Amino acid sequence: MPYLSALAARGEVGRAAVIPPGLPPGSDVGNMSIIGYDPAAYHTGRAPIEAAALGLKLRPNQVAYRCNLVTIGRDGTMLDFAGGHPSSEAAAEVIVALQAELGSDEVVFHPGVQYRHILVAPADWADADCVPPHDLSDKPAVWPTGAAASKLQRLMDASREIVPQFGLAANQVWLWGQGFQPDMPAFRDAYGVEAGLCTAVDLVRGLGVLTDINVVEVEGATGWFDTNYEGKRDAALQTLADGADLFLIHVEATDEAGHAGNLDEKITALERWDDRILRGLVLGLDALGPWRLLLLPDHPTPIRLKTHTTDSVPYLLVDSQVDGPGGFYSESGTADAVVVPGHSLMGRLIVPTP
Ligand SMILES: [Zn+2]
Repeated sequence: MPYLSALAARGEVGRAAVIPPGLPPGSDVGNMSIIGYDPAAYHTGRAPIEAAALGLKLRPNQVAYRCNLVTIGRDGTMLDFAGGHPSSEAAAEVIVALQAELGSDEVVFHPGVQYRHILVAPADWADADCVPPHDLSDKPAVWPTGAAASKLQRLMDASREIVPQFGLAANQVWLWGQGFQPDMPAFRDAYGVEAGLCTAVDLVRGLGVLTDINVVEVEGATGWFDTNYEGKRDAALQTLADGADLFLIHVEATDEAGHAGNLDEKITALERWDDRILRGLVLGLDALGPWRLLLLPDHPTPIRLKTHTTDSVPYLLVDSQVDGPGGFYSESGTADAVVVPGHSLMGRLIVPTP
């Protein structure tokens, strides 16, 4: 990664805790840190961020749940937390039917993307402990507990009469990730600048919606190995040329390669970051004027574990006009660095400490 190495040699590398203690190592938490909001203060759950991506704004008396279409075996094993990856169109028919049969004015199913949907319910439904279905793969389903568990259980049980009628691999819904509307100030109010972002991931899009960051659509942004790297780079440069002060490029491919345990794809995705984003990005930024750049992942997804961890991550800060101490951007290159809170970096990106 020659372009990344060159940036690290002239900038500052360090380590950041993007997942505060006690919070799950998810993209919702990690990206909230990256855009400069302390998840310990602002994170209420995963579902309301995805609800925001769908254009839903929760009232104070409402809670949002993530509603997965899942496949559970006769013996109660979680066979597929993604319900066979249905198309969004096929899944929407199921969600419409669930609303007709089980929904009401107060309990509303909203169709989302593929297997990922949203249920909005009265606030007192929030009081439950729910297990993320991707943590149960090939294990016995662990059902909700807590005061509201029976309401969730009733709905999930009833969905087993409806979901299988559609000929998909999914045979019921799974409710989890609940939360109330997060109370996040707009990015321009928090940091005094106008920002844009591009992503193929609902959670990052939702964070943009919640903080009034301009979400820019990039054709061919897939959230997968084949994503449009150049398109994201060019969206950043164009948005900045059009007057934005800050732009966030999000690429999911490295994370997906980690989940797949696919070392070759992970290396390829990192090299594409270098060659297809950073190389042209630095040239384009130089042409626009002085700039600063912050680069970091939203959490580790080690190949060996195939899932997220809460470990701190390496970060890179570069100022085009002021050379930093220089270093090597990697886990080992930053192993001895003092760990700083992830959400503190945005302030340093915008107003550098002297
Ligand atoms: Zn992931």
